[in-house]
Amino acid sequence: MSSMPALMPVYPRCDVRPVRGEGCYLIGENGERYLDFASGIAVNCLGHGHPHLTRAIQDQAATLMHVSNLYGSPQGERFAQRLVDASFADTAFLTNSGAEAVECAIKTARRYHYANGNPQRHVLITFNMAFHGRTLGTISATNQAKMRDGFEPLLPGFAYAEFNDLEGALALIDEHTAGFLVEPVQGEGGIRPATPEFLQGLRKACDEHGLMLVLDEVQCGYGRTGTLYAHEQYGVTPDIVASAKGIGGGFPLGACLATAEAAKGMVFGTHGSTYGGNPLACAAGEAVLDVMLEPGFLDHVKAMGDRLRQGLEQMIPNHDHIFDSVRGMGLMLGLKLKDPAVSRDFVAHCRDHHGLLMVAAGENVVRILPPLVIEESHIAEAIEKLSDAARVYVPVADE
Ligand code: PLP
Repeated sequence: MSSMPALMPVYPRCDVRPVRGEGCYLIGENGERYLDFASGIAVNCLGHGHPHLTRAIQDQAATLMHVSNLYGSPQGERFAQRLVDASFADTAFLTNSGAEAVECAIKTARRYHYANGNPQRHVLITFNMAFHGRTLGTISATNQAKMRDGFEPLLPGFAYAEFNDLEGALALIDEHTAGFLVEPVQGEGGIRPATPEFLQGLRKACDEHGLMLVLDEVQCGYGRTGTLYAHEQYGVTPDIVASAKGIGGGFPLGACLATAEAAKGMVFGTHGSTYGGNPLACAAGEAVLDVMLEPGFLDHVKAMGDRLRQGLEQMIPNHDHIFDSVRGMGLMLGLKLKDPAVSRDFVAHCRDHHGLLMVAAGENVVRILPPLVIEESHIAEAIEKLSDAARVYVPVADE
């Protein structure tokens, strides 16, 4: 008998074993209740069991779940049109995940230069602490050793600069550069928002050198920061955007959005996916969009984001032996801890002893990513749990 678990043991799974979700709460196997301020890592934007999303999936599952992309797609055309109407983009390729959306974004950027007769322009400049997914292409797009070790040889065609260092990024531009691939707010890297000067400077460089500005909004997009896409708050128009996570509200779905110009090389036969954008996924995507585009929804995210941030900032002085500062945008917030390398341990403490779910991230930051539908009462409950946790927590450095 092999000691290898049937489920490949690539995740350090904790003891929480959710079997049900109710709004902003998760319920474990033995009935334990958790306040879910992790949202499946920025996925369950409408919380758990949202009636409109659930109903849309149920109805579509009973009508038509999947057909091949060999056939016409009324569902895909309708959903893509709505994505386009709500964004900078002219066209969308639908995927099943964030990494696939980023892969399509990388291919679209390369293909743009190929279509222009410049196939040598194939290098995307990416940034330290970036996270773009776990495929071979997307791990090649980050220089984080923990993602890459043992998987070499990786894909050529990436150069790495310091995040928020405009000069450093511009210095890497040469005749092989295709563009930049950047998260407007780094998620896994520790909730690090780009500075406006940085993103605007990258846009300007793209305009000057004929490069593609490719944004990875898989985590920071889809309402999370209080606008449908984070770049809207920077006054920057991208060429290509990878979107996923919240876009399906929990159903596996992603999209690579692009302008007509950027997508000019993506002609028949250049890309594909068996499942991508099947009718069931599109029904989920449309249902999420119905809610997200309701008047007042994004204002609610902004208001709750301000309220949560305020609550966290007010709490910090009472526990300033543990908490350092708050950062982020909207409901994509990070609580930086003082003791080095304890964020995972503090997240575990909050989870196991106070019933509050959050996610650790880089730079010793605790990520706070609640469902976008939270109310004041959930914020008050989270702050109370965090305060209680901080009062009794004894720091233990992460392994
Ligand atoms: N890009 C960013 C910014 C992400 O945060 C993630 C996932 O955390 C991905 C890409 C990859 O998405 P997925 O895990 O759906 O492939």
